[in-house]
Amino acid sequence: MDIKTTRKVVTIGFTICIFASLIGIFFGAGNPELSNYMLIVAVIVFLFTAAIIMKYARCPWCGGSLLRKFFKLEVCPHCHRNLTTGKKKKGHGGRGRK
Ligand SMILES: [Zn+2]
Repeated sequence: MDIKTTRKVVTIGFTICIFASLIGIFFGAGNPELSNYMLIVAVIVFLFTAAIIMKYARCPWCGGSLLRKFFKLEVCPHCHRNLTTGKKKKGHGGRGRK
């Protein structure tokens, strides 16, 4: 699984988690069963997402952890390779290319 897929899965995971919690809170008021069910779904999805992050939020080139700024990083902070292309940034300081 590459970094882009991981980001997608994590985003979807957290979205489901948030929606399940909201549904549990708003629609579960008069329906404790639904509330419990949604809470369980939210917890399971959250744990699943956390496991994905632990396993896949790593640089594909050097294996360094990317837990910080996972959604923003383009270049690995450890080996300075582009996370999707694997190209190494030339020189130092970069050229501010966006
Ligand atoms: Zn790296």
